[in-house]
Amino acid sequence: MDSIVNSKRSRAKSAGPAEPARPTREQAEAAVRTLISWAGDDPDREGLRGTPSRVVRAYEEWFSGYKDHPREYLKRTFEETGGYDEVVVLRDIRFESFCEHHMAPIIGRVHIGYLPRNRVVGISKLARLVEVYARRLQIQEKMTAEIATCVDEVLKPHGVAVVTEATHQCMTTRGVHKAGVSMVTSRMLGVFRDHAETRHEFLSAIGMRGAINVANGGG
Ligand SMILES: [Zn+2]
Repeated sequence: MDSIVNSKRSRAKSAGPAEPARPTREQAEAAVRTLISWAGDDPDREGLRGTPSRVVRAYEEWFSGYKDHPREYLKRTFEETGGYDEVVVLRDIRFESFCEHHMAPIIGRVHIGYLPRNRVVGISKLARLVEVYARRLQIQEKMTAEIATCVDEVLKPHGVAVVTEATHQCMTTRGVHKAGVSMVTSRMLGVFRDHAETRHEFLSAIGMRGAINVANGGG
């Protein structure tokens, strides 16, 4: 009995976050039919007949981040700096994600800065990193921290700064109905946390100088 429990546990540990017994495509489509009925419509009427299979296919795209391992990806793609020792800033990386509380879209932009020690990565790699984390059910604070931690652990820079600005459709289309409100979260590590000057250099590069005073907001 014990060994079964243990083997289950170790399997869950070694696998990605999406692991718990995945339902079949048919089960997923049936769940969409249930939600259509719950909304008050008839899943068998003509316009809706193909919807469950379309929704399930869309889910494969929206939540494709579960099958990727950003750390492994970044490990394979970094390059030596060749002596470059200035802050690298990549701003306005657009992302689309879904909040884990309502499964409603979160749409926004991520800005990443780091001060390389020996390793740098190409622009497209950082954008890809954001995409992998975004294509999961998320909360913005967690995503911001995950991106910063991943860059920090793999590139081992002198510091990492990540700022995320996004609108949450669970806030703008329902509940409090706060249209036009965007949420800003940040994670500052290393020199960006410890040195106000370096942090300001990053914040002014992304056009947010003075906007963020808290060194480690969001968490
Ligand atoms: Zn939400």
